[in-house]
Amino acid sequence: MFYDEAKIYVKGGDGGNGIVAFRREKYVARGGPSGGDGGRGGSVILKADAGLRTLVDFRYRAHYRAERGQHGQGKDRHGRSAPDLILRVPAGVVVRDAATGQVLADLVVDGQQVVVAAGGRGGRGNARFVSPTDRAPAFAEKGEPGEERWLRLELKLLADAGLVGLPNAGKSTLLARISAARPKIAAYPFTTLAPNLGVVRLEDGKSFVVADIPGLIAGAHQGAGLGLKFLRHIERTRVLVHVLDITHPAKEVLANWQTVNDELAHYNPELAQRPQVVAANKMDLPGGEEKVALLQEQLGPDYRIFPIAAATGEGINALLYHLAGLLDTLPPPAPVTALEEEAEKVTIVAPEELSIEREGGAFVVRNPAIERRVAMTYLDNEEALRRLQAYLKEKGVDEALRRAGATAGATIRIGKYEFEYVEE
Ligand code: GDP
Ligand code: MG
Repeated sequence: MFYDEAKIYVKGGDGGNGIVAFRREKYVARGGPSGGDGGRGGSVILKADAGLRTLVDFRYRAHYRAERGQHGQGKDRHGRSAPDLILRVPAGVVVRDAATGQVLADLVVDGQQVVVAAGGRGGRGNARFVSPTDRAPAFAEKGEPGEERWLRLELKLLADAGLVGLPNAGKSTLLARISAARPKIAAYPFTTLAPNLGVVRLEDGKSFVVADIPGLIAGAHQGAGLGLKFLRHIERTRVLVHVLDITHPAKEVLANWQTVNDELAHYNPELAQRPQVVAANKMDLPGGEEKVALLQEQLGPDYRIFPIAAATGEGINALLYHLAGLLDTLPPPAPVTALEEEAEKVTIVAPEELSIEREGGAFVVRNPAIERRVAMTYLDNEEALRRLQAYLKEKGVDEALRRAGATAGATIRIGKYEFEYVEE
């Protein structure tokens, strides 16, 4: 089992602002209030897609922001809501809040989705605030900020293709050539002590996972070398790539091919049935062509042979595109689901307590609902500001600040905004 990981930032779109407007009527300076509401911001949604196999795309781009809602307009026109931003992830991804490590979702089934950053709601226009005591409110609400956070995505991977072959055939060299993996390469057996994994990404956007499975020697199925340990990793791959060192005499090349296949069949007869592609390696050295022709004659038409040179890159593209095409025709492996206890903990909402913390000289008020309310207030509008003050008092913020030791002139911070504390 291997892990693929990515860390991404997601932000829901802010809601559009509500606005202050009044109807124009003949001979009336100010008609009725007609400021429209802002539209809702788009949410960022992760959606499981059984056709995707890796998180490689998220290595190329880490920031994802949904669009904000449109602002309201005069004549009671509401702003348009923004579309959701849907990010497709492979089925089998566990989604965590990067800051807390908390599991937000375990996307196992194709099509399953989770909102990871909700868009903000639109602010209300002044038309919404008409009341019996206030026929012409001259304030509105700004849009609610969209949620934002860093996520950690984890995918437990099964390799799509396993590289098999005797030590020194060039498996590690091939893996290094076709992926970002950097396995150890050397001209002696057992250089690779753990299976290495690489994600191959083709120009057409397809990607698949290749494992370098070392330690296959005669007797591996009986535990020779580190055979058994590694044979276990091959079992769940969908395709085998049999790497052969073509520089040996033709007879030996065939014997080596047979040795490895015998080991596989002894360990698990099913492995002998697995689709197998042959990579005749080290074609940069002389004498390769005749041996490939001979080998093809002996193996028959069931085996495709790709002449390659892992060291120079020769012939690699043909091999990779063939593998991608082959993998497309095979059923995808069942995704590995997360531990069950983790699957239980889905989206726990933190209690919205009010806390006051000292930061430098400032008093920082922390509470999601209160921070949201402040962010949605047009602070340059007197009426809006007066309403905010009443709200803060009602929520016990004034009292809490007094108890925390705030005195006249102290700096109060709520979300991104700063205020000066005024004693009554
Ligand atoms: P592994 O044991 O199958 O992982 O083999 P390695 O990748 O460690 O390679 C064994 C040796 O063969 C190293 O010295 C490589 O540099 C060499 N080698 C691998 N591929 C090629 C190739 O295409 N051409 C040549 N000339 N040498 C290669
Ligand atoms: Mg190796």
